[in-house]
Amino acid sequence: MHEMSIALNIIDIVLEAAKQEHAERINSIEMEIGALAGVIPEALSFCFTEAQKNTPAAQAQINFKFTPAEAFCPACEHRFPAYERAVLCPKCGDMVVQLSGGTALKVKKINID
Ligand SMILES: [Zn+2]
Repeated sequence: MHEMSIALNIIDIVLEAAKQEHAERINSIEMEIGALAGVIPEALSFCFTEAQKNTPAAQAQINFKFTPAEAFCPACEHRFPAYERAVLCPKCGDMVVQLSGGTALKVKKINID
């Protein structure tokens, strides 16, 4: 499963950071997920719960911060945040053809003791 390899990767990053800081406990992790990153948060959350078992991050809470893609409507030159791939321009109702960004998938913040 795609999300499982991401979850294992998050654990790696977090444990490495905790080691460098000589932390004893990992309290929480904040993940940034772009709207177009192709990740299902529920699936990732489930996989993370599995991946964190028997690790120093076993008690860590994972929180997601969603960031939109930027949509640009060439018809009316309107820019707006898009949370999905198929969007209509809220101004003129045109099909938006240009989307950029929104593919971030990274650990933003780690709260450790
Ligand atoms: Zn438009």
